[in-house]
Amino acid sequence: MRSLSKPTFTNLEVLNLCLTATPDVGLHTRLLAISNNLDIATTAYDVNATAKTLNLVPRVDTVGHVTKPELTSLYSDHMSKTNGVARHIYDSIRSLAPYKKCPLCGVGTVATLDHHLPKSKYPDLAIFPCNLVPACHFCNDTKKARYPRLPGQQTLHPYYDAPLFSARWMKATLDQGPPLVIIYEASPPATWPAIDQERVRRHFIICGIGVTFSSNANDELAAHKDMLVKLHRQGGAVAVRGHLLEQVEKYSSRTNSWQLSMFEALANDTWFIDVGFNSIA
Ligand SMILES: [Zn+2]
Repeated sequence: MRSLSKPTFTNLEVLNLCLTATPDVGLHTRLLAISNNLDIATTAYDVNATAKTLNLVPRVDTVGHVTKPELTSLYSDHMSKTNGVARHIYDSIRSLAPYKKCPLCGVGTVATLDHHLPKSKYPDLAIFPCNLVPACHFCNDTKKARYPRLPGQQTLHPYYDAPLFSARWMKATLDQGPPLVIIYEASPPATWPAIDQERVRRHFIICGIGVTFSSNANDELAAHKDMLVKLHRQGGAVAVRGHLLEQVEKYSSRTNSWQLSMFEALANDTWFIDVGFNSIA
């Protein structure tokens, strides 16, 4: 999971490109007539996203005389379509994620753009670049048409929630089994504002992070078993802990990664470094 810089494209830039590819004179005229309405909607989005109040953004069915299907078609016909007139903007936003890692889960590969507020409920934001976030298929599918009714229901927004991405809230714990497995939970500090605590917990659940992280962690742990057994034979618990602390150091900059939380939990567990590593499947 990570924050990203906002796209620099404006809604008007995208709309103007869409207009160049709209030969239907009637639709062209109706779209031009709502240009100001869309500008107001996108400004309100920016204000609310900054204030962490995207739950206040109104859901709409039509804008002026332009229908929801016509608005959402701007995205599907001109942005996401391979030969769409604004496809280069779609590609540019998708490339904002370093190494093509999904910013929402930090594990999947970016494959698409996710409408942070879904276009089925907010068609006036269908082509707004700041509402389009690089995402893996899983995160995109699991969010679907979900939208926040309350402040605490807002999932994390990579363009607006940098502090919540950089603060530590991921926690791993050991289930001794056998077999030993790593379990994850969103565990924000109790000193955080209640809404921020709710938001990271919501994000954790909506993006299926517990299952994804556990799957990756338990697979990685299995690959470490032979080395841990060997280290323990050579240098006891001290050697095992030393290796685990090296891993903690390696992942120290990846704040809420499954790796950092897992290796910290293992290094600090006396049962694990004494004998528990033998319980890895
Ligand atoms: Zn993802």
